[in-house]
Amino acid sequence: MNKVIVIDGSRGEGGGQVLRTSLTLSAATGQPVRIEKIRAGREKPGLKRQHLTCVRAVAEICGAKVSDVEVGASELEFTPGMIKGGDYRFDIGTAGSVTLVAQTILPILLKADTPSTVTITGGTHVPFAPIWEFFAETYLPELRRMGARVEAELDACGFYPAAGGAVRLRVWPLAVDAVPHEYKLTNLGTFRKGKVVGVVSALHDSIAESEVEIVGNKLSELGLEHEVRRVKSFGPGNYCYAQLDYERGSVVFSSIGTYSKSRKSVANEIVTAVREFVKSGKACEKHLADQLLVPMEMFTGGELDVQKETKHYTTNRDVIAQLRT
Ligand code: ATP
Repeated sequence: MNKVIVIDGSRGEGGGQVLRTSLTLSAATGQPVRIEKIRAGREKPGLKRQHLTCVRAVAEICGAKVSDVEVGASELEFTPGMIKGGDYRFDIGTAGSVTLVAQTILPILLKADTPSTVTITGGTHVPFAPIWEFFAETYLPELRRMGARVEAELDACGFYPAAGGAVRLRVWPLAVDAVPHEYKLTNLGTFRKGKVVGVVSALHDSIAESEVEIVGNKLSELGLEHEVRRVKSFGPGNYCYAQLDYERGSVVFSSIGTYSKSRKSVANEIVTAVREFVKSGKACEKHLADQLLVPMEMFTGGELDVQKETKHYTTNRDVIAQLRT
C-alpha cells in the first residue's frame, strides 16, 4: 500500500479547501492521506459541519476507512477504497455550503463506473462560498468543457442560519474519449449582455430593489437588465448577483446580505468585484481559478488566464503538487 502522505492543514490559506482538495485527490488516486492542523488558519479551527460532511461524503463514495472524527477535529487519516456511483444524500445539518460539498464530490463521481444522483442539503447562498448561480452558471459549464456530463437543480434556497437549501445533481461517468485534447480558459470573447438580480426570502422587496438599482446605476456602462426575485426558504435571506455573459460563458459576482450589512454595502461589493474583473482583462475569474485546479489536475491539465493568483489559488496549487509526488 502507498505510504500515507501528511498534509499540513495550516499551510497557506489554512482553510477548508486544503482538506477538500486532499479528500478529492486521495479518493481519485487511491493515495492515503493524513491531514493535520485542519483549518488552523481560521478563528475557530478544526472541522465544521460542512467539512465533516465532505469527509463523510467522500468516504461513502469511495468506501474509505476514516479515523474517528467529529466537529472540531483537527486531524484525520483517510484511506480511500473503490469509487462507487449510486444514489447519495448528504445533509450538512447547518447552513454550511452545499456547493463546496458538491465541488468536493463531483470530480470523484466522474470517475465512477456508473451514474449517480446526489441530494445535498444545507446553505445554498452563504458568505465566502460560491452561491448556487456561480456554481451553475460559471463553474459547471467549465466542468462540462472538460467533458463532464452533469445536471444540477436548485430545489430550495438555504440561507444562514436557518438553512434548508437543497440541490440535486445527476452525474455520469466521464468517458475517456469525452475529455478534450486541450482545455484552456484564456479568452472569454466579447461581452454580450448582463443582468443584476436581487433576491429576498421573508424580507422586504425594497432591499433587493435598492441593491439592484445601485449595482445597475454604478455599472451603467454594461447596460445590465434588472431583476428582483422573492423566494421561499426556511428563514429570511438576501443575496444579489451580477451575471456577465461573454461569448465563452457567464461569470457571476455575488454578495450576501446579512444583518449587519447595508444594502449599499451588498451592492458595492458586487460593483467592486465586477470592476476589478473587467479591468484585469483576464479570462478566469479569481474564485473560479482556484476551483478549477482540482478537475484540471484529474482530467485535462490545461491553461488558465487567471484574474489574480489569490492565496486560495496558490494554496490549492501547492496542495495538489504535494499530492502529485
Ligand atoms: P473556511 O474558510 O471556514 O475554512 P471553507 O471551507 O468554506 O471555509 P475556504 O477554504 O475558504 O473555505 O474556501 C472557500 C471557497 O469558496 C474557495 O474555493 C473560494 O474560491 C470560494 N468562494 C469564496 N467566495 C466566493 C465568491 N464570492 N464567489 C465564488 N466562489 C467563492
